[in-house]
Amino acid sequence: MHSKLPEVGLTIFSEMTNLALQHGAINLSQGFPDFDTHPELKELVADHIRAGRNQYAPMHGVAALREGIALKVLRLYGAGYDPETDITVTTGGTEAIYAAVTAVVHPGDEVVIVEPAYDCYAPIVRLSGGRPVYAKLTFPDYRIDWDAFRDLLSTRTRLVVLNFPHNPTGAVLSSADLDTLAEILRPTRAVVLSDEVYEHIVFDGLGHQGMIRHPELRERSFVVGSFAKTYHTTGWKVGYCLAPRALTAELRKIHQYMVFSVNTPIQHAYADFLNDARRYLELPAFYQAKRDRFLELIRESRFRPLPCHGTYYQMLGYDAISNEPEMAFARRLTVDHGVAAIPPSVFYHDRDDHRVLRFCFAKKEETLVAAAERLCAI
Ligand code: PMP
Repeated sequence: MHSKLPEVGLTIFSEMTNLALQHGAINLSQGFPDFDTHPELKELVADHIRAGRNQYAPMHGVAALREGIALKVLRLYGAGYDPETDITVTTGGTEAIYAAVTAVVHPGDEVVIVEPAYDCYAPIVRLSGGRPVYAKLTFPDYRIDWDAFRDLLSTRTRLVVLNFPHNPTGAVLSSADLDTLAEILRPTRAVVLSDEVYEHIVFDGLGHQGMIRHPELRERSFVVGSFAKTYHTTGWKVGYCLAPRALTAELRKIHQYMVFSVNTPIQHAYADFLNDARRYLELPAFYQAKRDRFLELIRESRFRPLPCHGTYYQMLGYDAISNEPEMAFARRLTVDHGVAAIPPSVFYHDRDDHRVLRFCFAKKEETLVAAAERLCAI
């Protein structure tokens, strides 16, 4: 078989989760909560199934959900997206990312990807015949080096892929970053794909600085959202893409042949649930408390926390414990010490290794306590 992606194997999330299961380790690797979603949301899904909303949804999404998303975006960021022409419901953020890349990247186009990068971007770019070029976040403060970023752009640049709040580092953008990005992109034809699936998980009162806040960036961006992280429902795989009409039209051409439409009763349930803004407005405080609790629990350990301003991941340096590469240390941590984490080196095309691991703190109190106990014993 002549593989189209010869270097791609099992994702690191499946690999570490399998290893955790095999060795009975506490799994802080894959990014999902070990607590349940809201009981009311489960009831709403059941209600819509019982009410017979079980056939195909409209191709671009259930109207009530698109309207609810438009209202949320207007309230939070003061920007108007037309539910009819600018909002598409997708099978998770993942499908939105796939469709956006496929819609705009032609063979030979260059795509700037900020690294460390969530693992799906580069393979999708290559499947479209595009060439990923990489802008590394600075270490250890994980900021975009805008001069280096500017140097990567050329007439071949078709797309820029950003992901803030950032997985795996927990970095966020500032409004000054948005201004700089707008200025850098002004003379180019580059489109932005902004993966903002963690938009509601930003700490320390910083507020989410996404593309939608900046009128110029908004005009050239696909903005990807997801209900997975917002409502503790990673298994339901419903997300969406916001983009101006012309970009949305192209995205929908891909979406309609990938999946045509998305799970109907769950879309109706999310539409109902979106009416209660508290459910997403409470998330920063909810996850900041978990971050702070996890940090307090590991304070006496030899791990060194890096700053985390958003998402539900905490990066911990381990250079005081070992000088093994991240992959080897992550495996040993799982097998010998019973805690699974993600080695961020796999998120760099050149496997850059800073001797840090990513720990997911979207976990119950008892899970965090048990994991911290093991980490402190090392
Ligand atoms: N982007 C990032 C940065 C993510 O961390 C994830 C989930 N781990 C996704 C996209 C995928 O979102 P979904 O589950 O909605 O497909």
